[in-house]
Amino acid sequence: MPEVELRRVGKRFGKVVASSNINLRIKDGEYVTILGPSGCGKTTLIRMIAGILEPSEGEIFIGGRSMKGMPIEERDVGYVFQNIALFPHLSVLENVSYGPIVKDMSEDMREEVPRHYLQLVKLLDRMKMFPSELSGGEKQKVALARALASGAKLLLLDEPLSALDARVRMDLRYELRRIAKDLGLTVLHVTHDQEEAMTVSDRIVLMRNGRIIESNTPEMLYKSPQELFTANFIGETNLLDGTVVKNDGTHTAIELRDGTVVQARPSPFGPGDAVVISVRPERVHALKEGLSAVVRDITFMGTYIRLTAEADSEDTLEFDIPVSRGRDYNLRDHVYLGWSMNSALVYRLPPEGVVEAVKLE
Ligand code: ATP
Repeated sequence: MPEVELRRVGKRFGKVVASSNINLRIKDGEYVTILGPSGCGKTTLIRMIAGILEPSEGEIFIGGRSMKGMPIEERDVGYVFQNIALFPHLSVLENVSYGPIVKDMSEDMREEVPRHYLQLVKLLDRMKMFPSELSGGEKQKVALARALASGAKLLLLDEPLSALDARVRMDLRYELRRIAKDLGLTVLHVTHDQEEAMTVSDRIVLMRNGRIIESNTPEMLYKSPQELFTANFIGETNLLDGTVVKNDGTHTAIELRDGTVVQARPSPFGPGDAVVISVRPERVHALKEGLSAVVRDITFMGTYIRLTAEADSEDTLEFDIPVSRGRDYNLRDHVYLGWSMNSALVYRLPPEGVVEAVKLE
């Protein structure tokens, strides 16, 4: 059973700390994505699990067995690299047959298994072609079919959809998850694309600077992020800083820079504490009273209209309105903005400041 466990895993390249104190358990059959900004250590992490890199410290277990010193070919993982590495001198069918041959499957299986997975990624009609004759997206699908045909129950995918254009990427996302669930695979999928992570995963592990910031279901990470970095990274949000004036256990009242008092979810903070509030643009509404602001920008987004307003508190707030109400607003309109108490999450104001705390590096 390919449960994966990382215990206090770290990796250094000279002075660069690519991973630090990673503790992570991926359950058998779970689909987990590692999400985070470029350079945060996602590829390093998946390469250590694959056996391409040895951790500098800590230990990795697959199916309860320590992987210390175990080479990639003995780990029984299906691995799709960031830069697709198909054998250029082999046809599509031969590429996908590689696993079944190396695994010494029976003649029948060597015939049947590669065709089955090529059918699954809808490339059976391209089986005689060579990688140089395929598009980037087709190559990624072949790489995926090859990983699946290896029969490995643990699939490690490093940006497996990056070479595809938006439409195909969307289709293949759903297919990937469906295949993984149908076959009962354990999947670790690396991506920097949060929409991709939201749609395929049972659980997202968010990384920054070589560390795990937070891990949860896509819905919980979006609705109730524990960390300010998460609130800003997953989806879009407005961040406003202020000082707690009241906390009675049912809500937190916070005074913004212009003296306006706004309401937010209950929090562990008390009067005088410096905090940051996070409110998603779709949760902010123009009301009869509230935070005084002036509309500075109006953008048509297709399914909604995004307004950008400058508040008297000098905060910039974005809020969304239905397309049908687009004519109700003009540039320089004065509005009062507000939200329901539960839509506003409260975080401690980080000592390094909000900008630094949410920076993508
Ligand atoms: P991306 O999304 O851009 O692929 P990533 O999150 O996968 O980034 P990694 O490739 O794991 O990040 O890199 C993490 C850090 O380790 C980076 O600072 C990178 O420069 C460094 N690093 C990675 N591999 C090596 C290496 N072989 N030698 C030196 N530094 C490395």
